[in-house]
Formats: sequence, structure tokens, C-alpha cells
Amino acid sequence: MNSIQQLFADCLSADEILTDNHRIRHLLTDQRGRYHGAADVVLQPESVSSVQKILKLCSQHSISVTPQGGNTSLCGAATPEKGVLLLLHRLNRIREINATDAVITVEAGAILADVQQAVKRAGWFFPLSLASEGSCQIGGNLACNAGGLNVVRYGTASALTLGLEVVLPDGSLISHLSPLHKNTTGLNLLPLFIGSEGTLGVITAATLKLFRLHEDTTATLWVNVPHLRQCLDLWRLMRSLCGEKIKSFELISEQALSLVTRDLSVQSPTGECSGWHILCEWEETSTEEIQQIAQRLMKEGYDNTLLAQNQQQRQQWWRLREHIPQAQKKRGFSIKHDIALPINRLVDFIESNIAKIQQNFAHAEVILFGHLGDGSLHYNVFLLDHLDQSVYQFEQSINELVYASVLEYQGTIAAEHGIGVLKRAYLTQIKTPAELALMQVIKRQLDPKNIMNPNKVYPF
Ligand SMILES: Cc1cc2nc3c(=O)[nH]c(=O)nc-3n(C[C@H](O)[C@H](O)[C@H](O)COP(=O)(O)OP(=O)(O)OC[C@H]3O[C@@H](n4cnc5c(N)ncnc54)[C@H](O)[C@@H]3O)c2cc1C
Repeated sequence: MNSIQQLFADCLSADEILTDNHRIRHLLTDQRGRYHGAADVVLQPESVSSVQKILKLCSQHSISVTPQGGNTSLCGAATPEKGVLLLLHRLNRIREINATDAVITVEAGAILADVQQAVKRAGWFFPLSLASEGSCQIGGNLACNAGGLNVVRYGTASALTLGLEVVLPDGSLISHLSPLHKNTTGLNLLPLFIGSEGTLGVITAATLKLFRLHEDTTATLWVNVPHLRQCLDLWRLMRSLCGEKIKSFELISEQALSLVTRDLSVQSPTGECSGWHILCEWEETSTEEIQQIAQRLMKEGYDNTLLAQNQQQRQQWWRLREHIPQAQKKRGFSIKHDIALPINRLVDFIESNIAKIQQNFAHAEVILFGHLGDGSLHYNVFLLDHLDQSVYQFEQSINELVYASVLEYQGTIAAEHGIGVLKRAYLTQIKTPAELALMQVIKRQLDPKNIMNPNKVYPF
């Protein structure tokens, strides 16, 4: 036992210190296998008071702490360099579902899919939904301000959060698990921790908004069009027809659909993969409204349009969308970007950037898909002559091409996975010097010893 392990052995129960070396090796590696970390000890506290003890000791002895949820953020953010790797998975209780205020209070280590299921069993809907929902945790979702499939209607994790419980770097606790929808008592401090990627404290619980279930009044549409610009026109049309009732509006490219249909050995819903595909869902609709919308789409020339006839078909279509990341992984290594742009500039960005990439890399193929309805895209550049890890030698030049265009079109270089280590160097291009200085002041004030997830996010 090393001296750091001994320190924690004196104040935690034995099962709060993880000793399974095989599991530890796995946890120290980023899911993409790009970052291999190290830790002096891996802790799995069973209570909030244990998290407080851990942080207090870390602060007293200047030991760094890296919180880890489901380890799905893919940018090195949850991979420690040394010190404590802090696993939150045992803090996974649902503390309360409060139907009157329409909120759930849940601990940070709960897996997102488990929370969705528990809420559904209680007759409610929790709209945060991502392809990684079977492993990502509520704390990680908040620490990255996760988005996903339903942002168009329900917003990102921050929009769903009413209250937080956070252990600060010195071990003190801020507990503000209020179901209040309004609270104007001076500065709202809670958003500081949302999107902070574990650099300011450890989120241990949250109070989140719930919504009515609309399963019986949801319509799902698959549209196949030859030209990308038609997807944008379709978005405008659907917005004018359904307004805020649109829940998801997903864009899938021909290349992404070909990969996924091949991998799952299924057909594309419309029988062909060519062109561009939109998977759109809206809620609180009626049979008459659905028919009117279908007729209008036909009239506007969207004749390759299908309406899901039942839950099974709907699930098959969503499976295609959600399986894309796995199908891509099998294709090989790529340079991935989770970017967002103003929706009205998406098409210009895609067309000009793909042309630029292909001018610079003869064997490049961009596989893109994403949440067109909120402007965010998974934009992954494959080099067909480098489908193994050797593609990373071109990462910087590809990133520079992509990010320069993203900025030119007023977009952002990180829309979902966070900054972590991967995009640290680019933060100065996104934030102004004044914003960076303020970030630094906040970090120093809350974490003067820089123990919380050091060398992540902050470019200094
Ligand atoms: C297949 C796939 C699809 C995805 N799709 C989407 C998508 O549609 N939308 C989207 O937004 N993201 C998406 N992601 C990214 C990722 O799943 C999200 O960022 C998720 O919110 C991360 O949660 P996690 O529990 O895995 O966090 P981790 O990866 O474990 O951690 C992420 C960061 O949060 C910190 N952290 C974790 N828990 C806590 C805590 N309790 N307190 C303080 N800090 C903490 C970590 O230190 C780290 O900095 C996807 C990822 C994959 C693999």
C-alpha cells in the first residue's frame, strides 16, 4: 500500500478503495484508447460524506482528484494523470420523484438510462437522451452539459437542472436540491458547475425537471432527399408546421447510413442510402395533423417520406441512428469533432469544409450525422489510406481546417463531449481573453491548490 492509499484507508471503509487491477487498468484508459492515465489510488465512495472526507484530505495534502462517471466523454477529461481517480457509481440512488413539482432528485452516479426508466415507471418523461445513455451518469451529463436527441424541445442538461448538490475542493458541501422553478436570490451559482468537467468540485446529486409522457401522441418521420440544402428547407417547413412540438430532428449522411445498414445487415428505411436522411419526431400530435403534414410534405416535393407505422418501426429507425458511432468504430480510426453551428449556416459550413478537406487530403471521407435541429454535428474525418491509429499524425492539420471553418461560420468546437485534454489548446480561439481571465479567477478562488482535475479544460 502506498502512502496515499494508506491516507484513505485510515478514513474510508475497505470497499471504498478499489483494488481490482484489471478494472483499474480499464478505468485509466479513455474509451477511445487515446489517453492512458495513472492514479495513486482509485476510490469509490458510498456516501456524500465519504466524498467530503476524500476532498478534504486531498485538499490538505494537495492530492489531485479526477471525478469519473461513465467515462464516455471521449476527450481525456475523465482520465487522471496521478492522485485520486474518484468513481461516483455507488452514489446512484433516486432520492425522490416529486410529482407535484414535476422533479426528480437523483444522485450523480445514477446511469442515465436507469433514471429514464425509473421516471417512466412513475408515469413521467426525462428527456435527456444520448447514444451513450446505457453507461453515462447524471453527474457526467451535468459536468459536460450534455445535449443529445431531444434538445430541440427540452434543451441541454443545464436547462433541465433546478438544483445541485456539490462537494467543493475543500470538502465543504453546497446542497441546493430545490424544486423551485424560480429563485432570484442574487447570483445563481449552480450553473458554474454545469459544464465544468470536474474542475471546480464534485457533483453528488441533482434535482431535475420532469415532463409529461407523450408516447401515444408522438409521430416519427424518415425523409430521404438528394440534396443537403433540402434538409434545411425541411427543417424550416417542419418548424412552421409543428413549432415547438418538434422533439428531434436528426441528420444522417449517406456515408453514415451505408456504414450502419451494412453493420446491422438491414436495409435503409427508404430502400436506399444515397442522399441525405432526416429522422424527425414531434409530439402532442393527432392522426389528422399527421396526415395533413404528410400531404404537405408530398406537395413540397418530399416524396421519399415515411411515417413510422408502429413502435417497432420507430425503434428500428432510432436503432439505425444510435448505432452509427459503433459502426464507425469498426470502420477504423478517424479524427472526430463534436461541433455546432447556427442552423442557417450548417449547410454552407459542410459544403465548404468538405471541399477544403478533400483538397488537402486526397483520400479523405467525412462521415457526418447529428442533431440538425440544435445545430450540432458529429463530423468525423476518415483518411482511407490511414484507417488505423496512424491517422492521428494528421490530427492537428485536420483540426485546424475544421475549426477555422467552424469559427468562420460562428460555430463552436465543442458542443457535446467537452474540452478535456483534446481541445484545451483551442479554447483560446473560442473564449475571449476577458472570459478566460474570469474562468481563471473562479478556478483559483474555488480550487486554490488546483487539485480538481488539473490540466483539463483550462489552457493555462
Ligand atoms: C456513443 C456516444 C454518443 C454520445 N452522444 C452524445 C450526445 O448525443 N450528446 C452529448 O452531449 N454527448 C454525447 N456523448 C458524450 C458523453 O456521453 C457525454 O458527454 C456524457 O454526458 C458524459 O457522461 P459520463 O458519465 O460518461 O462522464 P465522464 O466521461 O466520466 O466524465 C466527463 C467529465 O465530467 C467529469 N465528471 C464526471 N462525473 C462528475 C461528477 N459527478 N462531478 C463532477 N465532475 C464529474 C469528469 O471529470 C470529466 O471531466 C456521446 C458519447 C458516446 C460514447
